[in-house]
Amino acid sequence: MTNLAALLDTTAAAHPDRTAIVCGDTRLSYAQLDSATNQVANLLVRNGVRPGDTVALSCPNLPSFTIVYFGILKAGATVVPLNVLLKPREIAYHLGDSGAVAHFAFEGTTDLPISEWAAEAVEQTDGCRSLFVIPATGPLPWADEPAEFATADVDDDDTAVILYTSGTTGRPKGAELRHRNMRDNALVGREVFAADPANPDTYLCVLPLFHSFGQTVTQNGAIAFGGTMIMLPRFDPRAALTLMLQETVTFFAGVPTMYWGMLSALDDGVDVATLAANLRVAVAGGSALPGEVHRDFRARFGVTILEGYGLSETSPVASFSVYGEEPRAGSIGVPIPGVEMKLIDDDWSDASGEVGEIAIRGHNVMKGYHGRPEATAEVLRDGWFRTGDLARKDADGFYYIVDRAKDMIIRGGFNVYPREIEELLMTHPAVSLVAVIGVPDDAHGEEIKAVVVRAKNSDDVTEDDIVAWAKERLAAYKYPRRVEFRDTLPMTATGKILKREI
Ligand code: AMP
Repeated sequence: MTNLAALLDTTAAAHPDRTAIVCGDTRLSYAQLDSATNQVANLLVRNGVRPGDTVALSCPNLPSFTIVYFGILKAGATVVPLNVLLKPREIAYHLGDSGAVAHFAFEGTTDLPISEWAAEAVEQTDGCRSLFVIPATGPLPWADEPAEFATADVDDDDTAVILYTSGTTGRPKGAELRHRNMRDNALVGREVFAADPANPDTYLCVLPLFHSFGQTVTQNGAIAFGGTMIMLPRFDPRAALTLMLQETVTFFAGVPTMYWGMLSALDDGVDVATLAANLRVAVAGGSALPGEVHRDFRARFGVTILEGYGLSETSPVASFSVYGEEPRAGSIGVPIPGVEMKLIDDDWSDASGEVGEIAIRGHNVMKGYHGRPEATAEVLRDGWFRTGDLARKDADGFYYIVDRAKDMIIRGGFNVYPREIEELLMTHPAVSLVAVIGVPDDAHGEEIKAVVVRAKNSDDVTEDDIVAWAKERLAAYKYPRRVEFRDTLPMTATGKILKREI
């Protein structure tokens, strides 16, 4: 098995009639999913896409996401899943940086015109020759293609997926994940979640599939073990609970704010007893799970949340609480099978103190950042990947995150990198200096705030002006909702803004 798409080939051959995806009124069996992915592969080949080419995908959690994802892989090309909230200039940057030759974009809605933004971006990008719009209703672009396709042979070390992340600093970089990285990370569910192909789970797919967490755990894992994906394009706690009941969901994976939302949405109208009886596994990751959410969830559902830790660069799963064991409060668990973790100092030596930066080595570690040898060399050495997360380890080998060494805000489960926003705000004529920080927020965990020093003769610029200007240019999860004006910002001798003091 080399191509990541072989996961689908194998399950479709063994269980053609099993339900693969449920979304609204659509139900697809594994045989139907397999045929549709073959059609996508044929469409790509007919349009000149060759093995090794790169193809971008902007689609919310809908069957088309999975169909196109595996279609691109079957053609031997690399998938570049993009956040559906990106605006045209952001999409163009990702298309150009990844060298995408084609782009699939869901039509979208009036609020979120994904395909219109994609069209604008494709026009600005020289190498991107084709835009395939996936309509909300009506025939799909691959509808007339033949349903047979022989999955392209690839090398295990070829890049299957490029996931954009800012890493420790700066503009988004493409983490190149090999076929084997992504495949092994999905298959590790056998040990980590006690997944059993003879008794497959029903997964609620509410984590965005363009992000590594949802992609590996709720899509590739579901397919590897012959499970059923229940898709909900837009997370809403009450809708999620209803769907979990309706479809007998046994596997839930979410970020902490989703758990918080669901617990807050429980009222007399929700049949918690049945939900709880159905649920076998609950998984959290992406940011620290508050102890209170952990306790409340167990009290209501009788299921202990397994907390995982990882990054886009590690496919993403690196550590997990141990299935069937009492989890340790505040811990991200132990390294998954086949993966090592250690704590290091700035110079890569073993941490001298109790706290160090987590480094990871194993089957899950990326090849490197696409087209960025220097950035890659900064984080990869002798197979070890340095994460930018600070942690300590207890006597039994359980890890506990204590801080983020890197400059990052996690708003409602989405990672936001201040530097990207600062760079944009610096281009506003009324801004002379800016620091973007995260401030505590009940609904989103953190909210984005810009602390701005106004340019000369710009005293009339207001908070609303800056927010509106940023909103026009940045994805909805990224723009600052709050702006504070100051006369100066605290700086180090080398001119670095001292964010901790702000
Ligand atoms: P991403 O590349 O988007 O998957 O983001 C990875 C980052 O999310 C990590 O470097 C951590 O800072 C954070 N993260 C992931 N899982 C956890 C967790 N369980 N607890 C705390 N932070 C986490």
